[in-house]
Amino acid sequence: MIHVTDNKRRVAIIGGGITGLSAAFYLQEQAKLHHYPLEIVLLEGSHRLGGKLQTLRKDGFIIERGPDSFVDRNHIVLDLATKLGIDHDLVKTKKAKTYIAVNNKELQPVPKNTILGIPTQIKPFMASSLVSWSGKVRATADLMLPPSRIDGDQSLGKFMRRRFGEEFVQNLIEPFLSGVFSGDIDELSLQATLPILLQYEQEAGSVMRGMRRELTSMDPRTFTEEHNAFSVQTFADGMDTLVDSLADAFDGQLMKGVRVQSIMQSNEQLCLELNNKSMLTVDGVIIATPHQAAQKLFEKQELLQDLKSIPSNTVASVSMIFDEKTLASFDGTDIYMSRNSDYSLTSVTNETKKWPHIAPEGYALLNCYIGRTGDAAIVELSDSEIEKTVIEDLQQLSGITEQPFKTVVSRWKDSMPQYTIGHVDRIKCAKEKLYETFPTVRLAGNSYEGISLPKCIEQGMNNAEELLKELFK
Ligand SMILES: Cc1cc2nc3c(=O)[nH]c(=O)nc-3n(C[C@H](O)[C@H](O)[C@H](O)COP(=O)(O)OP(=O)(O)OC[C@H]3O[C@@H](n4cnc5c(N)ncnc54)[C@H](O)[C@@H]3O)c2cc1C
Repeated sequence: MIHVTDNKRRVAIIGGGITGLSAAFYLQEQAKLHHYPLEIVLLEGSHRLGGKLQTLRKDGFIIERGPDSFVDRNHIVLDLATKLGIDHDLVKTKKAKTYIAVNNKELQPVPKNTILGIPTQIKPFMASSLVSWSGKVRATADLMLPPSRIDGDQSLGKFMRRRFGEEFVQNLIEPFLSGVFSGDIDELSLQATLPILLQYEQEAGSVMRGMRRELTSMDPRTFTEEHNAFSVQTFADGMDTLVDSLADAFDGQLMKGVRVQSIMQSNEQLCLELNNKSMLTVDGVIIATPHQAAQKLFEKQELLQDLKSIPSNTVASVSMIFDEKTLASFDGTDIYMSRNSDYSLTSVTNETKKWPHIAPEGYALLNCYIGRTGDAAIVELSDSEIEKTVIEDLQQLSGITEQPFKTVVSRWKDSMPQYTIGHVDRIKCAKEKLYETFPTVRLAGNSYEGISLPKCIEQGMNNAEELLKELFK
């Protein structure tokens, strides 16, 4: 049994991914600021921190097995990086040229000045060959159509079709957003994934107009004038720079290789049952695990049952190293595949075009992604079978005939939670039920209020603040 220090409050954070690490950072920061006597224990089930953030460094290459970059709309990452003293390690991509593979035809460039597939300027969009003339005219109806009167949630796909029409959604929006959310836009919730689009519609009377207005007041630190879009950023020496810095800044107790199996109420405190047969008594808990693991912690109490209905997609990233000359004819940074094409790939990122420093001179590094909604089986194939499938797709896409020098396959089973219609209410309801019985337990992470890294960090921060208020009220 691990003993509680008498006059202190002790908080356990379960899960050492970016959400848990951020929660630890902000708990520590706020406790110091307000002179709260706080002890923090961070429990991570595996033997490494970072969760889905995993950087592989080999022979001069920086390979990201999980997230390779982020869009820091509200400068959440920048603020955290500044506090950690690693803001100078942030690099913005200078190049951004996206292509879409539609209907198995040759790659079509995405018109300049689009965000998430939505044009913010009419001229480049009108010049694009991705959509027919009638499709373009239909898409500009977004500027005139009245706001929808749908009460409650609706699918992202339905909303987009209403505003922009079928062809535009099929050829531009669907490939983009399915890639970003690793899901099916007709099943995904508008409220949970991109509520800002609804806000644009309601306040500006049009999604395009709303987006354009917002662009005029963007923070130059996270925005690039050159592309008229939010900057895509990474850390120069790899995404795990953030993980390592958060781990260095943590001065609480770190327990790696220790899984929490259940949480029970014990008088005024909480008792955590650990897989090493010991118990940990604490006053508060932030659960920063995927929702499947969070749900298991309360199986005895039959709490968090609502989380069982959140589906998760299985994906894999396939990193391939080529001779630079092999890819010389391809000037794009990203390719997205529309679902009406036959590719197994969902998207490809030409990493060295975006970040030339991540490979030795003369080499090119591609990150290829597989695993659509309903196609988890492809991720179960052997490494060599996956490699073969990806190479066949690349050949068809861009005529690459050479074999890669090296391939790294990273499988991420059930890793992409799907925010399906009704997600916001489902989470609200699950949290209310949990907090009623366990007022000093909080839920945070990519299953709940945002899948991106900035959203995970924000959840870590908000839950740390909320919990401290509850513990020291
Ligand atoms: C292939 C891929 C590419 C991505 N690309 C991007 C991108 O480019 N940009 C972007 O913004 N986002 C991207 N994402 C999403 C982003 O990486 C994740 O949403 C985010 O990293 C999730 O962080 P987390 O801390 O909430 O969860 P996780 O990283 O899953 O961390 C949870 C941790 O909890 C631990 N744990 C689980 N159960 C227990 C238990 N019972 N006891 C103790 N510990 C436990 C796990 O071992 C894990 O370390 C990508 C995701 C994937 C899979």
